[in-house]
Amino acid sequence: MDKKIVIVGAGVAGVNAATKLVDNGYPGNLITVIDMGKDPYQRKPEEVMTGFLGAGGWSDGKLTYHTAIGGQLSKYCGEEKAMELMDQVITNFKRFHPKPEEVQCSNPEEEPEFIKPYFGLRLFPVWHVGTDYLSEIAKNWYDYLVSKGVEFIWETKVTSIDFNSKIQECTFEDLLNNKFYNIVYDELIFAVGKSGIDFAQELANEYELPDEPKSVQIGVRFEAPQEHFQKLIDISYDFKLYRKFDDKGVSLRSFCTNNNAAYVAVEETYGDHSYNGHAKKDEAYRNNMTNFGILMEINGIEDPFTWSRNVVNKLQSNGTGLYYSPSRQPSTTSEGNNVTAHQIEYLDDVKEVMGGYFQYVEDFIEDMKKVFPTLGDDWGIYIPEVKYLSPEVKVNYENLSLIDYPNIHFVGDALSARGITVSGAQAIYVAENLIK
Ligand SMILES: Cc1cc2nc3c(=O)[nH]c(=O)nc-3n(C[C@H](O)[C@H](O)[C@H](O)COP(=O)(O)OP(=O)(O)OC[C@H]3O[C@@H](n4cnc5c(N)ncnc54)[C@H](O)[C@@H]3O)c2cc1C
Repeated sequence: MDKKIVIVGAGVAGVNAATKLVDNGYPGNLITVIDMGKDPYQRKPEEVMTGFLGAGGWSDGKLTYHTAIGGQLSKYCGEEKAMELMDQVITNFKRFHPKPEEVQCSNPEEEPEFIKPYFGLRLFPVWHVGTDYLSEIAKNWYDYLVSKGVEFIWETKVTSIDFNSKIQECTFEDLLNNKFYNIVYDELIFAVGKSGIDFAQELANEYELPDEPKSVQIGVRFEAPQEHFQKLIDISYDFKLYRKFDDKGVSLRSFCTNNNAAYVAVEETYGDHSYNGHAKKDEAYRNNMTNFGILMEINGIEDPFTWSRNVVNKLQSNGTGLYYSPSRQPSTTSEGNNVTAHQIEYLDDVKEVMGGYFQYVEDFIEDMKKVFPTLGDDWGIYIPEVKYLSPEVKVNYENLSLIDYPNIHFVGDALSARGITVSGAQAIYVAENLIK
């Protein structure tokens, strides 16, 4: 236990890795975590993607508990181990929660009859933490790691990593002073999440890292008054309606449902706006709205990453994304500001940019109107919602290290995760291996 471990990214994955290490007696002073965002005491709500707990820090805190949800985990470590790792992540969130008894689990058991003619429903348990508590969890968690001697370097962007030399270094830029520093590592955990996707791509190009083929994940964020969906929410808080068109290589799912105090969130990636959502727990924020993504997974598109980026870029107007509704206006954020979106009257341009694929989204909405008869025209969509799946680099399954660089471990959204539980679980898996 005398190796210097550098963790790039203090997001869900980085924080869970550091916690597993110190919980098992790994000396905190041998662990350095570098993040371009801020510590949980300084981080502002509008800093959605960066800082302590990363994109998970201001998320809705839905901790999904199933290996079919949230990206790849069981492929590396097997089904049983995957569930055990996810348990550890959930335990960590409860452990630093000021009121752990408020973390509720929704666990639907069978598909309701009324959706069956049109949709399938994915059944899986989900623990709900709530955005407002995440900030308190983050502070408690951070204090714990600092008390164990873990060093955090904030507002500092890692700009290059040397995989090859005998003495391996990672270079980072102090964003406040524009100064560059180096740090030597023995083991490096690369946990930069979605906000570090460009950097991950740069490294993949520089070191010619082999990767796995990926699909496109694109769609819209749908928003409507909650009452229309209550019948299904009573069965499953984070319901996942889905349908598949195998012959076309397309499947659709409702994604990341937020209820009660549900707000649409603007994400900025590569200078473009796309949408997501979160929900608060505190009754004071209740707005009785529901929002969820309607996401298409499209297979067979060559260079899915570039395709998605082009589509998102073309779906911008007046420096932001689009909003369409047959009857409504865009909503406000939990801080009372308008959700940034340019309202459009017609969908013709969107259809043109998304090619034939937008028809799948329209059909999905039309069929929801049949399943939830009060919905009618009482809804709006924020366009686009996108999941940029970073190229999934090929890793050794036993410790998620790069095939040719055994001391560099990729984890979380930077590898193949798409959610909090899986990101944290992958990182704990790596930490367990380092302790061995
Ligand atoms: C609004 C929103 C709501 C969400 N809601 C949910 C939800 O309810 N449930 C769920 O399961 N998932 C949700 N997600 C997704 C979830 O947050 C992510 O899957 C998860 O946080 C990924 O963890 P990670 O550690 O891989 O990356 P992140 O948590 O994104 O952390 C990456 C960290 O790396 C840092 N970083 C990036 N590049 C660099 C660099 N070059 N140098 C230094 N630091 C760098 C960033 O500042 C960031 O703090 C949501 C995401 C968003 C944006």
